Amino acid sequence: MELNQKALQEGWNTETLLRTVIEQVFPGRIAVVSSFGTESAILLHLAAKVDRAVPVIFLETGKLFPETLAYRDTLIGRLGLTDVRSIRPDPAVIADLDPDGTLWRSDPGLCCWQRKVEPLDGALQGFEAWITGRKRFQGGQRTDLALIESGDDGRTKVNPLAFWTEEDMTAYFNAHDLPRHALEAKGYRSIGCAPCTRAVKPGESARAGRWSGLDKTECGIHDRSVVVNARGGGI
Ligand code: SF4
Repeated sequence: MELNQKALQEGWNTETLLRTVIEQVFPGRIAVVSSFGTESAILLHLAAKVDRAVPVIFLETGKLFPETLAYRDTLIGRLGLTDVRSIRPDPAVIADLDPDGTLWRSDPGLCCWQRKVEPLDGALQGFEAWITGRKRFQGGQRTDLALIESGDDGRTKVNPLAFWTEEDMTAYFNAHDLPRHALEAKGYRSIGCAPCTRAVKPGESARAGRWSGLDKTECGIHDRSVVVNARGGGI
């Protein structure tokens, strides 16, 4: 993608990239998607420097840790974000597919579809691009992450932190005295829904605690093949 090459060739820093896509390339047509997890404060802080009113989509799956909801509220207040949209799954879909709330145990792919993928699809209507907080160092499918890519749904995905290291992130937290997610001190380094997240042990990768023990590393919002499999061949 031309914009990706331009950013790389000209050595844009993260704030320049964010300012360019929010103000010039997709004004009013781009949203940040944030989990309000352990590293989310950095992207949100940078985005707020450009525009505190940038839409921020938060998938409130109904299965999150209370600490994550509290962290969302803390960061909204601290960063002055004015358009954080907490998106919940469709109650009718939940009633149909997951009436007792245990689908995560029997079919986590379908559970992610109903609680994350479909709600995000709805929340992104009207937007041409979205900004994610993924990093290359997280490994797996993220190892070769580009700064800017085309998503499966035709929207542009901007990954401003793609080349950041864990050391970069620690330095940024310290430099700006950003609050930490309460579960980080208990060993949680990548935080999603409570039933599917555990603390990691020393030496494990940050995302080792996500869907631990399962052959699943992504929820499907970034990899639609997860969704296709969950839906038995099609959405
Ligand atoms: S992470 Fe777990 S609980 Fe959350 S939507 Fe996916 S399977 Fe369901």
